Amino acid sequence: MENCIFCKIIAHEIPNYTVYKDDFALAFLDITPRAKGHTLVIPKVHALNLLELDDSHVKNLLLAVKKAQEKIDQVLHPDGYNIGWNHGDAGGQVVPHLHIHIMPRYNNDGGANMHAIVNNPGDESVEEVYKLFK
Ligand code: AMP
Ligand code: ZN
Repeated sequence: MENCIFCKIIAHEIPNYTVYKDDFALAFLDITPRAKGHTLVIPKVHALNLLELDDSHVKNLLLAVKKAQEKIDQVLHPDGYNIGWNHGDAGGQVVPHLHIHIMPRYNNDGGANMHAIVNNPGDESVEEVYKLFK
């Protein structure tokens, strides 16, 4: 997609520090790392987010996440990981091309876990919310 910075990386118009690549995805070091080895995994096709990524690409993307994680594991030997993505403005997404963050974690690195992202459970009980799904 024109003017998409990550599509430009895919097209080799912008350089990157590649960790892993295959026919469907590219994994490269985040330019502003929040941890040693902070990596982004992106599908080669443009999609704003997972909901807009064609089903046929989802399996390949997750496989690339695993391959990239294996590589990071071999090279940096972190003690753990947080892996996920920001979706939409409320989710803190800045770059409008789906990218999965692989955040290596090291013992006593001062970081937190997924639960620290937000604490806004709302007034309805879990049961009430569940009823909305029925
Ligand atoms: P977000 O959209 O908030 O999930 O995060 C976008 C991420 O892309 C940030 O962590 C940026 O540091 C990273 N980023 C932006 N431009 C580049 C680039 N040219 N190369 C590598 N990482 C980038
Ligand atoms: Zn793109």
